[in-house]
Amino acid sequence: MTTSSVQILRSKKELRAQVREWHMDGLTVGMVPTMGALHHGHLSLITEIQKHVDKVVVSIFVNPKQFGPNEDFNKYPRSEAADIEKLEQVNTDLLYTPAVSEIYPEGFLTNVSVSKITEGLCAANRPGHFDGVTTVVTKLLLQCLPDVAIFGEKDFQQYAVLKQLAKDLDIPTEIIYGTLIRDNDGLATSSRNVYMSAEERQIALEIPNTLNRIINEIEGGSLTIEEALKNGTQRLLDAGFKEVQYLEIRQSDTLESLHQTTAGPSPISARIFVAAVIGKTRLIDNMPLKISL
Ligand code: AMP
Repeated sequence: MTTSSVQILRSKKELRAQVREWHMDGLTVGMVPTMGALHHGHLSLITEIQKHVDKVVVSIFVNPKQFGPNEDFNKYPRSEAADIEKLEQVNTDLLYTPAVSEIYPEGFLTNVSVSKITEGLCAANRPGHFDGVTTVVTKLLLQCLPDVAIFGEKDFQQYAVLKQLAKDLDIPTEIIYGTLIRDNDGLATSSRNVYMSAEERQIALEIPNTLNRIINEIEGGSLTIEEALKNGTQRLLDAGFKEVQYLEIRQSDTLESLHQTTAGPSPISARIFVAAVIGKTRLIDNMPLKISL
């Protein structure tokens, strides 16, 4: 049997001991929390954080607390052996893949919750989702105590929430983000893309196409924000999406709606966000844009 070049740990005690040893040797440590089913979006976070730290810990934990009762926790893709091969390819130092009982032992009673920026967007259709994310990420960061942790721009609201969390709770980990990675056809890479049929996947391309078109319409001044968003929603529905959960533009830094923006420098940095359902698959995407108010 060949042994992996990636050290694999399943207990927080062993994880803490290894990270402590690295720190005592003067090495810096980065963490990449994931739910597995790794793809090149995840791998790009690993290669990005390697530029900032000496050692990289990737966690794989499909977190039951961030899935709603009617969501896909049970069928979420799990592929540990294939994941380990991918982690080897990018020279990951350590894989931390705890059992549910290691994260939520019997008697676990705490919930970590961030307000305001968890309102709207993904929170509206996924009640409890962000509390699940903030609770598990608090635990993972405290179990590992990394110097830096990286999250993907793909889940931009999640990144903003986690940056706020670390700041508010004085967690001594710098939170950074990695660029959103797309497949060659332009669709944002996601572990959930495997749920789609070939036909659905073709329709799904209407998401990046629509976002690009709206950005051109607004930045080019041919349509108002309201008109461009209304047309975009209709275009997604016409293409075959069952539901458009949101198609919104918000300020990049605070995630506030644009009408909450007080006078300031124009154009402002904004971001367009979308969540839409095709068949049984919920897809999200976002892109930056400049808005002149
Ligand atoms: P997940 O395994 O889906 O929970 O994602 C783990 C991390 O990978 C999160 O920080 C995601 O934002 C990030 N991620 C997922 N897909 C992508 C992507 N296409 N590009 C960049 N980061 C991503």
